[in-house]
Amino acid sequence: MKNDILNLIHLHELDQEISILNDKLRILPREINNLDASVQKFIEEINSKKNLIEKVQETRRKLEIEIDILNDKKNKYKEQIKSIKTNKEYTALLQEINIQDNAIRAVEDEIIEKMEIIENLQGEINEIQAQFDHEKEIIQAQKNELLKEKEHIEYTLAQKKQQRKETKDLLPVPLLQRYLNIARFRNGSAMAEVRDEICLSCNVRLRPQLWEDLKRMEDLLMCESCHKLLYVKDN
Ligand SMILES: [Zn+2]
Repeated sequence: MKNDILNLIHLHELDQEISILNDKLRILPREINNLDASVQKFIEEINSKKNLIEKVQETRRKLEIEIDILNDKKNKYKEQIKSIKTNKEYTALLQEINIQDNAIRAVEDEIIEKMEIIENLQGEINEIQAQFDHEKEIIQAQKNELLKEKEHIEYTLAQKKQQRKETKDLLPVPLLQRYLNIARFRNGSAMAEVRDEICLSCNVRLRPQLWEDLKRMEDLLMCESCHKLLYVKDN
């Protein structure tokens, strides 16, 4: 019986280890995705600012066309001035030219304003790009680390599963069945270690007789409080 109990303890420990490895393996893809998302966020931020620059550039081009139109008008008035006869006509044309000049200046101010916006956006892009260049390497290193960890866990998990199978095959079927049944109702954990007479699963102190029986390892005993199979290590 003692050997069976030792094998059962081994099976229990393997099951606990497999469960922890599976939990880690479930979390890893999410962590890797988060890293990918942080790279994506940089790219999106840069693209959105580039799009904004493109829109402002378009407005700027329209304003330049507007200036051309205003200049054409102004030049036409200047041509007309050459063939003017009266002072009144002359004053009127000068006034028109003046109006065009003011309009041109106003549009020019707008263009300067747009150019400043573009310059500021370009500055912001450069800053984000510099930060991205710096962090890209860190993120990539973290990602490589996680991928390596994943590979290592997968390898260990396969080993543990193989060991589990071998250990399982050593156990008498009724004992294994009992273990599996309890595990099913106890969140995958069928056994509880006892240290200093206390069940580590429910923290209840064992009756002295139960403690004495347990140390002899002659029979598989159950915690009277949490109903898991009890064991002591290094007994
Ligand atoms: Zn217990």
